[in-house]
Amino acid sequence: MKININEIPPQGLELEEIESAQALDIERSDIEFTKDVLIKVRIKREYDSLRIHLDIESEISFSCARCLEDESKIFAQHIDIIKDAKEERIIDLTQIAREEIIFSYPDKLLCKEDCKGLCPQCGRNRNVHTCRCDAPLGSLGIHIDRLDN
Ligand SMILES: [Zn+2]
Ligand SMILES: [Zn+2]
Repeated sequence: MKININEIPPQGLELEEIESAQALDIERSDIEFTKDVLIKVRIKREYDSLRIHLDIESEISFSCARCLEDESKIFAQHIDIIKDAKEERIIDLTQIAREEIIFSYPDKLLCKEDCKGLCPQCGRNRNVHTCRCDAPLGSLGIHIDRLDN
């Protein structure tokens, strides 16, 4: 989605594109895109700046960083960007969207904000089971006893 900024009409421009995550090169080892990525762009020129609004939509699957359960979620980002219109004449909106998508990734993906994770003692998923291990606070030696059956 490359556009010449001199060709943006005064009322602005709306564009959209559907790309695979592979083509966009946005995959991360812990994030799998299970749908193509829809990128909607609204762009408007105001004097010397460009106002760009991006709506990005897809679906991802991943393992929760705390409880390790497989999860899938809607991936949606709404991003406003202001760029200097004097910098370049041709801008690549796909490239801008790609950078914004990667920048929006959290360090850790969780199934839910308050995921309780695995019990450091018995290894059970504490969202599902209530165990009675009551790991002492501040204990650094994490010991996981898995029930292998
Ligand atoms: Zn979790
Ligand atoms: Zn436990």
